[in-house]
Amino acid sequence: MRYLVLLLIVPLVLTAAQSRRPRIAVAGFMHESNTFSSVKTPLAEFEILRGDQIYRETEAKNEISGYIEGSKRFNFDLYPILAANATPSGPVTDQAYNAVVGEIIEKLRSGPKVDGLLLGLHGAMVVESFPHGDSETVTRLRKAMGPGFPIVVTHDFHANIAPAIVEHSTVLITYKTNPHVDQRERGVKAAGIIARIARGEIKPVQALAKPAMIYNIRFQNTNAEPLQPITEETRQMENRPKILAASVAGGYQYADVPEVGPSAVVVTDNDPELARREAQRLSDMLWATRDRLVLNLPDPDAAVKQAMQADKFPVVLVEMGDNIGGGSAGDATFMLEALVKQKAQGWFVAVADPEAVKLAVRAGIGQRFESEVGGKTDKLHGAPVRVRGLVKSLHDGKFLETEIRHGGDRYLDQGLTAVIEVEGSTRDVQNLLMLTTKRQTPFSLHQLIGFGVYPERQKILVVKAAIAFRAAYEPVAARIIEVDTGGVTAVNPARFKYLRARRPLFGLE
Ligand SMILES: [Zn+2]
Repeated sequence: MRYLVLLLIVPLVLTAAQSRRPRIAVAGFMHESNTFSSVKTPLAEFEILRGDQIYRETEAKNEISGYIEGSKRFNFDLYPILAANATPSGPVTDQAYNAVVGEIIEKLRSGPKVDGLLLGLHGAMVVESFPHGDSETVTRLRKAMGPGFPIVVTHDFHANIAPAIVEHSTVLITYKTNPHVDQRERGVKAAGIIARIARGEIKPVQALAKPAMIYNIRFQNTNAEPLQPITEETRQMENRPKILAASVAGGYQYADVPEVGPSAVVVTDNDPELARREAQRLSDMLWATRDRLVLNLPDPDAAVKQAMQADKFPVVLVEMGDNIGGGSAGDATFMLEALVKQKAQGWFVAVADPEAVKLAVRAGIGQRFESEVGGKTDKLHGAPVRVRGLVKSLHDGKFLETEIRHGGDRYLDQGLTAVIEVEGSTRDVQNLLMLTTKRQTPFSLHQLIGFGVYPERQKILVVKAAIAFRAAYEPVAARIIEVDTGGVTAVNPARFKYLRARRPLFGLE
């Protein structure tokens, strides 16, 4: 029960670009949309860099920075249009979607003549009116720019790739890694490919193959079995002369859309049969791992018990149902409640709760804090927990990440932040609750260090995440325990009702 799409790109007419320095347009429109979330994503949630503002990303580790590096390495000019980005959440509103895509098309039409487009799309954007927002984007761009116009798309590893986007893009590649540490590298790769297209050196054709499954997020670590060997295979394939790119995307199970689940896309230089065969081979490799995709994780109480009995610290407890990077609210209280109830010591938890931050600010540093915390966005993430303690510190919430970490961001801002020393702390061992104004994905240890929390001094660190936190936390963690908690990113798909996904899919039935 798997299918295959084979698509031939009409041979490109390339004359003008071959004799002069190519100019390539750059655009990005990134959102991972959780269809189980009740929170919609309006235009105001997007940070949008326009025109030359895009060069602010030059030192980042994302695909836009890779496009910029690639333009220098492969000798072409850029026409920067815009890069729009929002933290994962519920579906994007039609109004926001039409505004951003409309602006990209308008700038392509009214700007200088270009020889192609480098386009950063997440791959799991859902729009109110379109289950596959990214497919719709490329379909509209294709219509606007005509059949021969090179469009090279980069996708996140969590893309749910639909046939239409493979049909309408010239080349599609994804990050290979999760945690995502190769975003810049894949941006450079895309730049190298579009430079060769513009110079008439290659004629890419691509094929998509999808196994009939979802690949549970719990198993999407590309540094570990069972995905690691498949990821390695795609690396080897890209060393072969006729293969321009080979990508495996793990998919994003929190979008109830027809093409949810993993994908293999192979791009060759004018060899459609090779593309089809190799994409199918990668798809078969994914399918063959399914007997290893069995979930068996502790609940919050059992996980806290295990952590308290550990002989080495810190132990990282992963609150998988409140994976902020997967679009959840960041205010689940399941782990906080279990820690408080079992009187664990030396823990750290961050909760997005702007009301509680205001209370802490009003109280002031060193003053008593008592409030209900978290569980306020909806009914899926636990009840608010009563917390008593002292306001230890207050911060503007800005911090800097200089290493290559998941997401590739450098400048981060979680809004006004309070650190509460919760009752039960001693002078040596502190229970620290960080209250943030905005949701902050836990992809950087500077989220702790920057605000006076030293991860190696804590016994238990809670992260609201799935896999992506590992790039930052594995170097300090003595042990990592994944916890089966409720929420819009619950690791067990049986907790959700899928209505639009094609069926049957292994992992959902
Ligand atoms: Zn991702």
